[in-house]
Amino acid sequence: ARKFFVGGNWKCNGTSEEVKKIVSILNDGKVASADVVDVVVSPPFVFLPLVKSSLRPEFHVAAQNCWVKKGGAYTGEISAEMLVNLDIPWVILGHSERRQLLSESNEASCLCAKRLYLSSNFFDIQYLLIHIFYFLGQFVGDKVAYALSKGLKVIACVGETLEQRESGATMDVVAAQTKAIAERISDWTNVVVAYEPVWAIGTGKVATPAQAQEVHSELRKWLQTNVSADVAASTRIIYGGSVSGANCKELAAQPDVDGFLVGGASLKPEFVDIINAAT
Ligand code: 13P
Repeated sequence: ARKFFVGGNWKCNGTSEEVKKIVSILNDGKVASADVVDVVVSPPFVFLPLVKSSLRPEFHVAAQNCWVKKGGAYTGEISAEMLVNLDIPWVILGHSERRQLLSESNEASCLCAKRLYLSSNFFDIQYLLIHIFYFLGQFVGDKVAYALSKGLKVIACVGETLEQRESGATMDVVAAQTKAIAERISDWTNVVVAYEPVWAIGTGKVATPAQAQEVHSELRKWLQTNVSADVAASTRIIYGGSVSGANCKELAAQPDVDGFLVGGASLKPEFVDIINAAT
């Protein structure tokens, strides 16, 4: 059986005072034993040492991102080696906020534009889109492979936008994002896949249990066909997007929902209820 996994993604929130408050709520919370649930919280980089040193020992910490290769002249980036050096065991990679708003796509578009320019196919929009997509996936896939190679455990995020869902492309998108990772790694032991539909993130519009189960089970089938039956059976696929104390139990009851990646509610006392959703 797959052990339930609950991640708290604090995103870009908190002061040191607020962080201490959240940690004390977690430390005082009555939670299921570590044999039953893995709990990993992900504060902003600057608070990682504080949280790691003050959090109850059975809970772990994750960084929210790391650089795609060995550190060096990459201003503003944090390398996988640095996380390992500080004993930070986990990292979240490919979060949609980074895919959509931040450097994941900048890097990708740069490479893409250069290649298109050289190929003299610059005005072919379809060609452009295919290559943007290819490079986006490649960048996240490369990050996952590099982080794993340094000994980090990875929460790898996938998920479709509302437009993609409405046009019936959900599984194509999620499969392509997973494929970019699958092509670059062979050992899935230290990977948790987070299915986070973009339309559900921070919107209060949680996927219904049936919607979540449908994608999780398709994703598991994809892993079975394209990776292996073992990996499909053992890899945890967790759901993220407007998870709350109120909706977590019903979602957790779905056979292919192995836990959650929680944003807003991970900053509140109800995170303790979400940790206990499967018990
Ligand atoms: P919310 O729970 O705030 O919707 O965020 C989900 C998320 O992005 C977790 O990574």
